Order: sequence, then C-alpha cells, then structure tokens
Amino acid sequence: LEPLPHKAPVGRLPDGSFSRYAGCDRFSQLPVSKKTKDGLTQCKYKTMTDIQRASLPHSLCGRDILGAAKTGSGKTLAFVIPVLEKLYKARWGPEDGVGCIIMSPTRELAGQLFEVLKSVGKHQGFSAGLLIGGRKDVDAEKEHVNGLNILVCTPGRLLQHMDETPNFDCSQLQVLVLDEADRILDVGFKRDLNAIISQLPKHRQTLLFSATQTKSVQDLARLSLKDPEYLGVHEES
Ligand code: ADP
Ligand code: MG
Repeated sequence: LEPLPHKAPVGRLPDGSFSRYAGCDRFSQLPVSKKTKDGLTQCKYKTMTDIQRASLPHSLCGRDILGAAKTGSGKTLAFVIPVLEKLYKARWGPEDGVGCIIMSPTRELAGQLFEVLKSVGKHQGFSAGLLIGGRKDVDAEKEHVNGLNILVCTPGRLLQHMDETPNFDCSQLQVLVLDEADRILDVGFKRDLNAIISQLPKHRQTLLFSATQTKSVQDLARLSLKDPEYLGVHEES
C-alpha cells in the first residue's frame, strides 16, 4: 500500500492549533516507545497513512477518537499503536489482567487484526487472546481469559465470557476499541454492545474506527466517548 497523498487536514488540536507531531510523516518521529518502533520497523512500516497521521497525535495523548476512513487506509495501526503505548506507559504486566478490549464485527477481521497486534506488539510482551467463538473451545478460554492483557473479540463471544466466565474482570480496562464500529451496530450487535458497555468502567480511552461515519456511530459515541476527536479522512475527487 502506498501512503495516501497529503490532502487531509492532520493533527489539528481542539483549539485549532496543530500538535507538535502533526507534521510528522514517519512512525519514527512519533512519541512512542522503542519497543513499538522496533515492531513497526520489523514489519516494514515507515510512512504513516492519512488516518494514522490524523489520529495518532490525538490518540497517543489519551483522547477518544471517532475516525472514519475508507477500507484499506490503515485503520488497524491507528488503534494498535495507541493500545500498545497506553499499556506500556501504564507499565501493564501479567498481574494486571485485562487492560484493553478490541472488538471486531467478524471472526475473520478479528483474526486479521490479531495478527497485526501480535507482529507490531511482539517486543512489548503483553499477553493477548483472540476470543471469537466458532469451533474454539469456550471452556478452555474461560481458564485463562482473566490472565490476558489484550482481548481481541467479537461482541457475542465477549458477552458470553461476561455472562459465564467465573470472576471475569475488566474493571481495570484502560482502552476500548471498536473496529468497523458502524458494522458492529449494523449487524444486530446493538443490544450485545449496550450490554457489554454497561459492564465496562467509564474511565477509559475509547477509540472507534470505521469506513463511514454514520449517524448510528455518533449515537454510540454519545453513549461512550468523552469529548471525542472526530476525524474523517476522505480523498478529494
Ligand atoms: P483498514 O482497516 O483501514 O481497511 P488496514 O489496517 O487493514 O486498513 O490496512 C490495509 C493495508 O495497508 C494492510 O495490508 C496494511 O499492512 C497496510 N498498511 C497499513 N498502514 C500502512 C503504512 N503506514 N505503510 C504501509 N502499509 C500500511
Ligand atoms: Mg480494518
């Protein structure tokens, strides 16, 4: 994938000024840990895409994000990097339990982003699990789900653990990510999602990304985001 041309407004802060990282094009210029930089370099990621350049200056300083950019624009790294950095800065360790939940509407997409998380995050040493249902044995999952730092999951499977897994604990959650947020609402997950969100701590960072910024995503934003940064990256035609 070639980085998109520099058309989109990037890194503007709420007061209209620009973040000191707003002009950055390369991951190496961002204020992120060496471990994350090494992961990015090994995966051969060098130049940020538009959605990454627009969102990372905000997400890396802890703001909530509602980001819209078309499929293939690099949204996965736009949340994987702040997730890794949030837990890194909090010195998250094996004893700290679930620090991040990343939700995806389909098993396949969850599996794909899990691979990106594993490869870019491999030097950080956090434990991560893919909880997606299907043929995977839920009882085996229940044994170790509380020891995982990052959960990559579909809403249904996450809710199943919330309902069934003894002592399932997300009370220390630092970051919630909804990938393909519009689809998570679209395909009838709305009730699951509300049930999930009602069980999560309110003091957290929330990152929402999708291909389109639909009204329903904004409804969701009203439910769970704090003063979010709305970032739409669209190509001019
Ligand atoms: P989206 O979620 O927006 O559809 P993805 O995160 O799946 O997009 O990324 C699409 C493709 O672009 C993937 O193959 C990914 O490896 C690649 N990609 C993402 N960011 C970059 C980047 N900064 N430089 C080069 N390739 C990238
Ligand atoms: Mg994606």
